[in-house]
Amino acid sequence: MTSPDDELPDGAVADAGPVVVPDEARRRWQELVEVVLQARERYYTHDAPTLSDEEYDAAFRELEQLEAAWPELVTADSPTQSVGGRRAEMFEPVEHLERMYSLDNAFSLDELTVWADRISRDIGSFPPAICELKVDGLAVDLVFRDGRLRTLATRGDGRVGEDVTHNARYIPAIPTLLQPEPGVAVPRLLEVRGEIYFPIQEFERINAEQLDLGLSPFANPRNTAAGTLRQRIDRRESELAEIQAAGRAAGKTARSPDRSAARQARLLAELDRARQRLGSLRLVLHGIGARDGVTFTAQSETYAVLARLGLPVSERARVCADLAGVQEFIEFYGEHRHDVEHEIDGVVVKVDDLALQGRLGATSRAPRWAIAFKYPPEVVRTRLLDIRVNVGRTGRVTPFALMAPARVAGSTVAMATLHNASEVERKGVLIGDTVFLRKAGDVIPEVIGPVVEARTGDERAFVMPTHCPECGTALRPEKAGDADIRCPNARSCPAQLRERVFHVAGRGAFDVEGLGYKAAMALLDEGLLTDEGDLFALTAADLQRSEFFTRDSPSGRILNENARRVLAQLQEARHRPLWRVLVALSIRHVGPTAARTLARELGSVDALAAADPADLAAVDGVGEIIADAVHEWFAVDWHREIVEKWRAAGVDLAEQRADDGPRPLQGVTVVITGTLDGFSRDGATAAVQELGGKVSGSVSKKTDFVVVGDNPGSKYDKALGLGVPILDAAGLRILLDRGPDAAREVATIGSGKQSAP
Ligand SMILES: [Zn+2]
Repeated sequence: MTSPDDELPDGAVADAGPVVVPDEARRRWQELVEVVLQARERYYTHDAPTLSDEEYDAAFRELEQLEAAWPELVTADSPTQSVGGRRAEMFEPVEHLERMYSLDNAFSLDELTVWADRISRDIGSFPPAICELKVDGLAVDLVFRDGRLRTLATRGDGRVGEDVTHNARYIPAIPTLLQPEPGVAVPRLLEVRGEIYFPIQEFERINAEQLDLGLSPFANPRNTAAGTLRQRIDRRESELAEIQAAGRAAGKTARSPDRSAARQARLLAELDRARQRLGSLRLVLHGIGARDGVTFTAQSETYAVLARLGLPVSERARVCADLAGVQEFIEFYGEHRHDVEHEIDGVVVKVDDLALQGRLGATSRAPRWAIAFKYPPEVVRTRLLDIRVNVGRTGRVTPFALMAPARVAGSTVAMATLHNASEVERKGVLIGDTVFLRKAGDVIPEVIGPVVEARTGDERAFVMPTHCPECGTALRPEKAGDADIRCPNARSCPAQLRERVFHVAGRGAFDVEGLGYKAAMALLDEGLLTDEGDLFALTAADLQRSEFFTRDSPSGRILNENARRVLAQLQEARHRPLWRVLVALSIRHVGPTAARTLARELGSVDALAAADPADLAAVDGVGEIIADAVHEWFAVDWHREIVEKWRAAGVDLAEQRADDGPRPLQGVTVVITGTLDGFSRDGATAAVQELGGKVSGSVSKKTDFVVVGDNPGSKYDKALGLGVPILDAAGLRILLDRGPDAAREVATIGSGKQSAP
């Protein structure tokens, strides 16, 4: 069999498109599927078995391993997804009253249009359609008779599923008795279909638990839900009961009480974990099968009736009058995918009218009246090429993963932080592993864990360096017990120096345009700076010596555009507000918010240096941690030298304006969401704060304004719901220029267009 790694590049590649499953893997998968399905059929029909139990289990295990290495192979028809698993773990089969179809997929709006065109051709025009979020979970079939749950079954092959009714008792989200609203009659028979899933938080908790147990993390919520629901809890319960009974019968004469106790403890722990996981499963219904004593005319009506019977249905489903509405729904949730409490992998679109559904019918595998629009994947597999370390601004040494570039959630990712050595160990990743890589929306990329089954034996463990890769100094934790280790050579470690210079010039500090990472490296490499203290003393003559800051001209090397900009910017930056100076000092825990408070309360760097830590800690918004950090920072000689060098170069070290200037936004709380035209997020925040306003991260009734840019998040919906005045970028300018009253006049309050139902 081809090793999964054979297809992956050894070095960086320019473009890693979708993973292509090697032919040999696909062929072997097909063979195994046939072997397993045939054996299973013989088993169920009580024919002469084609395979021994051991042979069956071996084939099944190989199939599972193959699918773990190549999740692209997993289809709803794979035996791993349907009735029975390993023979010992098999469930009883249960036949669905009506067949459960799978859905055809559309991977682009073009494919969606092709589907819609076919419907229009068949019935004359595109009819109203209901759009539902496609929950990334496990499809199940539930049968209620006279209001009581009779069976809970997995989808299986669509006709026959696994009977997991026993487990339903541990899933509070599944009602075992219908609870109809007053006046609603309980149907004699009701077969409903839905999706069992984990909310994202639970999915993450369970994956952390898998890692702690030394197991592969689940690739996606669907696998997690399947693995959780398909557990033979009943078998474990009876095994446990037997051991307990045997223990009591044997009494003190037990030959090996320790072994039995250990087994009992293991079983108890397994049961506990299984029940706990089942308990956090959720259910959302999305279809109906056989029924007696209830009639429907539309899919949307079905959901309304199910809700009145006390069954869980989604509140996000919408009937759209035309295809444009459908596309709008798809685009909206493409952007707001992460505002939903569970993962979604797409949108299911169904013709709403049930009579039309009947007219359109189904192909052999899928109905023609529905389609699943799929969003691009957010978890992919890639090869972990190496684990390297980065030395940060404060000397912290951070391991990071260097991966074969992979396309995930719409962007190409090749690196992800691994935080620290114990995190590398916790995740259990080895260099050379195939790993699951996640990137949800604009969240930073994360290595979830290794695909243990894909290992070849050539992987090697990461060893945290003992010495700084940049300056050779022995690394150590700052305090005993710290998870992080640091390079203690703070003053002249090139890595730390580079990061500090970059930070000093950065947007949150002196905001020196043109002095980015490359410029910082050039200044240090070419010896124009010994440390960040020299920055403001840089002259045109200094930059003239640098390759980076000059260009060729008829009269020889002259300063380039960027050099002139940096010099002009440095000139201007000498007079930045005090809080920016404080941020630039790289005092631990002193970010923009603390710096503003310190600047306002103390008014100068000298006052800060001289402040008594106890007095400082008593200042509202400062506290002990910051007070100590400030005190420790000024106790270091070379830190004070930086301040003196800046003073000598004419940098303002005290607040220039008296702080009794106008603060028109005093007492005004603003929330900013989305991308604002003409403002960076930091810029908008700073502008509000400089006028005395408060910028908050969450919307509440106390919020005065929500400033909404393009692609706003859930905060926008919340603002609509609470009726908080909403401003666009132009409205923000009015708030800044003319104050809250003028802004209120141009604000909008809840159009309701995208509000929650
Ligand atoms: Zn170092």
